[in-house]
Amino acid sequence: MTLTAQPAVSASIQCPATALVCRNCGAEFPLTPIHACADCFGPLEVGYDQAVLATVTREQIESGPKNLWRYAGLLPVGQEPDSRVSLNPGLTPLIHAPGLAAELGMTSVWIKDDSANPTHSFKDRVVSLAATAAHGFGFRRLACASTGNLANSVAAHAARAGWQSTVFIPSDLEPGKVVQTAVYGGRLIAVDGSYDDVNRLTSELQETDEFEDTAFVNQNVRPYYAEGSKTVGYEIAEQLGWRIPAQVVIPVASGSLLTKVDKAFRELVAAGLVEGTPWKIFGAQSSGCSPIATAFAEGHDVVRPVKPTGIAKSLNIGNPADGPYALDAVRRTGGSIVHVGDAEIVEGIRILARTAGVFGETAGGVTVACLQELLASGGLDAAAETIILNTGDGLKTLGPVAEVVGPTMTIKPALKAAREAGLLD
Ligand SMILES: *Cc1c(COP(=O)(O)O)cnc(C)c1O
Ligand SMILES: [Zn+2]
Repeated sequence: MTLTAQPAVSASIQCPATALVCRNCGAEFPLTPIHACADCFGPLEVGYDQAVLATVTREQIESGPKNLWRYAGLLPVGQEPDSRVSLNPGLTPLIHAPGLAAELGMTSVWIKDDSANPTHSFKDRVVSLAATAAHGFGFRRLACASTGNLANSVAAHAARAGWQSTVFIPSDLEPGKVVQTAVYGGRLIAVDGSYDDVNRLTSELQETDEFEDTAFVNQNVRPYYAEGSKTVGYEIAEQLGWRIPAQVVIPVASGSLLTKVDKAFRELVAAGLVEGTPWKIFGAQSSGCSPIATAFAEGHDVVRPVKPTGIAKSLNIGNPADGPYALDAVRRTGGSIVHVGDAEIVEGIRILARTAGVFGETAGGVTVACLQELLASGGLDAAAETIILNTGDGLKTLGPVAEVVGPTMTIKPALKAAREAGLLD
């Protein structure tokens, strides 16, 4: 025994990120606020030191905070708690749904319910990573182009941090999403155009002197933003008891979430945190905006932009940045990507609510309806364990559902009225 003081056991987590890597040509760049390759203009993605990733253990993760920062050892930023600019989203419920499985003739279905995040969608994950990266780069202002949920989350994160936010949205978004952004007090700019128009405008604004010191979460810090979506995949595996499910159905806008769930599974296997059992990735789009599903059906590698329509506004990106990578993930894993119409989407929302007690937004309806479509077409195995993602809260998109559900009946406050209405029969 020695009498000298023992050094405190260091709980510090090493940052595993080493560079930004071009997804197109493989060129590497330092970890700075850039998102496009200087050589070929391809999109940049965070690259990691596999040896550092492999030092992360299940125990380290399990003893971490009850939010996405438990995976800090697998993320590019946020290793130090003080460095985080975050509403601390994540570790959302993974709900076993036997009622939904029975309704659809399946063996085992789970719902990863990201409506439980602080601003009620999965976007809190990506914004937490983007805002933390922005903080590290010295930015103190956030901005974004959004289809709705990102707007909610950016405005809320900026409010919590005491930063300024400028959020750009298409002017025809759902009232719930507009109010839920405006209430946080930042600047909310409604643009008379589609999301793709808004996105083009913010790309141009980003180049101006006035926005030089602003982090556009899904543009100049997009590589860091995108890594936040990996935590959906990590959580699914951890919540299943450290294993990878056979099939996952994921709603698709830009395609980033889908590609990152696949990346998360690959990383977990490479780091020795789970066994390398096979998985299939399935994508879900709405027929009003299905450029990736269309490219999949036609066997193309290139995604032809479309002009979005339809009720699934959160997914209405007509020119999806991660389209080719989403196609690759789906094809490589043996999955597929399909689309469904507005009536089926509303029915999907109702089925999820009625059979599992989960009220999803239109994107959740897209996922359930696409699950039905995939079962009908035989692309998805009804007997294999399946995870579906509910990425947003139904209270955000009441409109299309309010048209088809309401009180069973309206009666006077009297027993007689209840009897006359047949409630005592
Ligand atoms: C943003 C979003 C998605 C998917 O986004 P990607 O751009 O494909 O990563 C899915 N569901 C909801 C509700 C969203 O807001
Ligand atoms: Zn390149």
